[in-house]
Amino acid sequence: MALFPWLNSGYQQLTHLVSEDRLPHALLLSSAGGLGIQSLAEALAATILCLAPTPTAQGAHACGTCKSCLLVTNGSHPDYRVVSHREGKKQIAVDDVRDAMHFLQQTAQQGHHKVLVITPAETLNKASANALLKSLEEPPAGTFLILLSDRPASLLATIRSRCFKHAIATPDHETSHQWLSGNIQDPETVNLLLSVCNDRPCEALRFYEQGSLDIRSKLIEDLNKLMGKHLGPSEIAGRWNKLPMDQVLFWLSLWLTDMSRFLGSKGLVTLRDPMMVKITKYTVRHAKAVSIFGLTDDILSYKSGLERQTNLNPQLVLEEILITWHDMIF
Ligand SMILES: [Zn+2]
Repeated sequence: MALFPWLNSGYQQLTHLVSEDRLPHALLLSSAGGLGIQSLAEALAATILCLAPTPTAQGAHACGTCKSCLLVTNGSHPDYRVVSHREGKKQIAVDDVRDAMHFLQQTAQQGHHKVLVITPAETLNKASANALLKSLEEPPAGTFLILLSDRPASLLATIRSRCFKHAIATPDHETSHQWLSGNIQDPETVNLLLSVCNDRPCEALRFYEQGSLDIRSKLIEDLNKLMGKHLGPSEIAGRWNKLPMDQVLFWLSLWLTDMSRFLGSKGLVTLRDPMMVKITKYTVRHAKAVSIFGLTDDILSYKSGLERQTNLNPQLVLEEILITWHDMIF
């Protein structure tokens, strides 16, 4: 199984522990997000479950060809399970965790081990986290729990403290650039994506594939119309309401955060999005600093509200943002 290059050293370290029979039963694997750590969890699970691991200098890797490895690859290994929140939900259901705990109690069917992956672990709510606690404290023999998280600090302390922690570092720009260039040909697009995704390569590719750059162009076009008084805030809010709200708030929060930093540094900070130079300079010239900081805070709190599934009325939120922006420059 080919891993993303930035995951290799973590994989070596963890499989080394597996081959020495020292891998802790509960592992919290974390990253800043957008690094594809799910694939590391799967590779690690394959190594734990492999019936004939291939020896390496540091330990052993999954062979990739035994019955167990093939079942993991097909997603049908009876001793391997991944629990996540259901589609459309933002939290892992307590019943799904209870069901997974039952799975851990049963005897392994293929070998001697069982692996349960919980992802993203920060979406465990209090009830589902409590259902997990007992297995974290007294794991059934031969079982391994791998929790994945992009926001490990937001996990309940009772969960975090019972896990062995392994953090995957965000790769350097050169590694990310090289990998992303293998997927996207235009070097300017690669640079822009890495810049706005803080060098997180899988996140950058996901953005590209979701058409985020087209959404960005639409938003910038409309902001220029707002500055030129060709469209009013409510009309623009109506147009943006037809776009994915998470994307709209992503771009707005990125631009406003940069605008605040630009303002705070008296123009010395480089904007992550070069297309926003004109709008940023115009806004900074016409608006009061305190209004820009206030709007930045509002957008960030709408964004985190959306992530926590707080009920937002998109049309109203967008109108609020655009009216504030409009009123601070005119
Ligand atoms: Zn194998």
